[in-house]
Amino acid sequence: MKILSDFSLDELKKELADLPAFRAKQVFDAILQAKDFSELKLPKKDIETLKQNYILKPVEIFKTLKSRDGTKKYLLKLSDNNIIECVYLLQNYGNTICMSTQVGCKMGCKFCASTLNGCVRNLTAGEMLSTIAVVNADNGKCNERNFTNIVLMGSGEPFDNYDNVVKWLQLITDKAGFNVSERNISLSTCGLVDKIYDFAKLNFNITLCVSLHATTDEIRKTIMPIANRYSISEIVDALKFYIGENNRRVVFEYCLIKDVNNSKQDILRLKELTKDLKCHVNVICLNPNGGPLKATTRAEAVAFVKALNDLGVSATLRRSQGSDIEGACGMLRAKTLKQN
Ligand code: SAH
Repeated sequence: MKILSDFSLDELKKELADLPAFRAKQVFDAILQAKDFSELKLPKKDIETLKQNYILKPVEIFKTLKSRDGTKKYLLKLSDNNIIECVYLLQNYGNTICMSTQVGCKMGCKFCASTLNGCVRNLTAGEMLSTIAVVNADNGKCNERNFTNIVLMGSGEPFDNYDNVVKWLQLITDKAGFNVSERNISLSTCGLVDKIYDFAKLNFNITLCVSLHATTDEIRKTIMPIANRYSISEIVDALKFYIGENNRRVVFEYCLIKDVNNSKQDILRLKELTKDLKCHVNVICLNPNGGPLKATTRAEAVAFVKALNDLGVSATLRRSQGSDIEGACGMLRAKTLKQN
């Protein structure tokens, strides 16, 4: 079965060439509005033919949790019954959707719940587009856009699903579709250096974020297996190339872990590491995933950021949202898999 949301409008017109062209537009609008076949105003026989060959809505809401702060966490069910997560965050500059790019993740970062059960499969571009459509429809009128920003910071490593993520970027920014501005999209990677070079050449105006989480390769290797493959200096070189191609500021994510990466030396090394780069450091308080790694206190995190700022490093502490509803990467999914 093919997924209809994997196609752009132009591709749909070709794919559904047996139907009149305006039917393709109807199907396309139904995709954006997260409609079912039953809501499609098409002749019965056309719907039956479509149903036999295609999936219109590859993502359904399975469960919704609402936080005291308004954050909504979704468990979404795919057509093969796999479960993914998505978070809808209320922010004063526009609401943000945080979405997954894979079912699970194979990167093995020690602090992250998404990777606990490995990677089941990649999401298709259409499944990612429909994720946005479903969550959008659940937060206002389905024919309006109820979000401003999208961050690829849910489960999965976007650059481990490179082709589908690039296709999704084309779909989500398409003027005929959601028409999201590239500037309002952030992609977070654990630092697949080869893919950073490839991606740089595509010249998307998005914000590239790199999960750094350590200031030496030795420390990084203890928490992120990918550090055995690429060194921090290779990541920095790739980012210099990226900035050269796109002139965009990159973001380092730095999740503070007690007694692992929060020393005075780490602050000095962060200063050194970022000094020739157009970048910002986003410090995050670890959301403990049940493993041995411990969070710092909020006050320690504030002091860490202040020390960076005093050295002239652009850095802020990420606001924590939805922690009462298992808001961090993969936590809700991991819990649900365990229960079932
Ligand atoms: N695979 C990508 C994107 C997913 S993770 C990446 O590694 O960047 C999105 C961000 O959340 C990353 O910076 C990740 O390191 C961070 N993160 C994962 N688990 C976390 C936890 N338990 N507490 C705080 N941040 C976490």
